[in-house]
Amino acid sequence: RVKREGRGGYRFFSEELNISSARRVRMEAWMRNALANEGFMLHYQPKQELSTGRITGMEALVRWPTEEGMIAPGEFIPLAEDTGLINPLGRWILNRALSDAVQVARAVGYPLQIAVNLSMRQFQRPGLSELVQQAIERSGIDPSLVELEITESMVVERVDEAISTMRSLRELGVQLAIDDFGTGYSSMAYLRNFPVNTLKIDQTFVRDLVSEDSNASIIEAVIGLGRGLGMQVVAEGVETALQRRLLEQAGCHVGQGYYIGYPVPLNELIELLKHAKAKNS
Ligand code: C2E
Ligand code: MG
Ligand code: MG
Ligand code: MG
Repeated sequence: RVKREGRGGYRFFSEELNISSARRVRMEAWMRNALANEGFMLHYQPKQELSTGRITGMEALVRWPTEEGMIAPGEFIPLAEDTGLINPLGRWILNRALSDAVQVARAVGYPLQIAVNLSMRQFQRPGLSELVQQAIERSGIDPSLVELEITESMVVERVDEAISTMRSLRELGVQLAIDDFGTGYSSMAYLRNFPVNTLKIDQTFVRDLVSEDSNASIIEAVIGLGRGLGMQVVAEGVETALQRRLLEQAGCHVGQGYYIGYPVPLNELIELLKHAKAKNS
């Protein structure tokens, strides 16, 4: 199975949840090696404010180039979770993403928001907020520019603990987003108890926005829900001009997707932002 992802094209070697045990053992060893030798990298995907067309932020997406090609995070993040390697990897991702964001702001002359994905194990591990605090201090970033993405599945279990973790993160001054919203157990009832700033509508709803009326109404409902709760609403997986326009008309604040920009290495993102800035001024 080959999956294309623009420039960052990569391969899936096996079904996500069904990797052979020999491969798992090999991958774990490779992963340790990659951690010790700066073998992972981050790509950044721009996020665009739909009403103005301005790129106001970016999401860090981890990449793992190996001799077999790029291995997708959908394959190695679950393995990193199982083996505990997500802890050092996640720490590296946080530190790198925040310091890269400071570098981007310097290079383009204005601050951008940086979104970083957290995995379940990272979210549930004691000491997360200390880790985030350290990354903020080391990078010197304004914490209000940092957004941490968590998924519904992380917060529907052990709700009270999850809320207290979210609160301690918010006390650092960072923002919180619910990623892939609409795919998990619906936490609609809980949603207003979560100290969350942003809802990211899952790309499956965006994909069929044009062809299926039911999806258009779901998306409109989710946008209304998020806005009604005073949240920022982000749509992921925006691949066409029509999707972008419909989302903007429905009141979605921010778009992210191949139509707006692919995930790219840091230097390419900086070039893209400089170009966009020159065009707008
Ligand atoms: P996610 O956080 O929901 O990220 C969005 C995924 O959709 C990314 O896949 C991105 O490359 C892809 N994407 C962006 N625009 C489009 C589009 O227009 N169309 C389509 N079809 N796809 C688009 P990616 O990079 O393979 O990441 C997959 C998932 O792996 C992420 O989903 C996230 O859950 C996880 N992940 C990625 N990076 C990290 C990381 O640094 N830490 C953790 N814990 N998880 C990560
Ligand atoms: Mg995400
Ligand atoms: Mg997502
Ligand atoms: Mg996703």
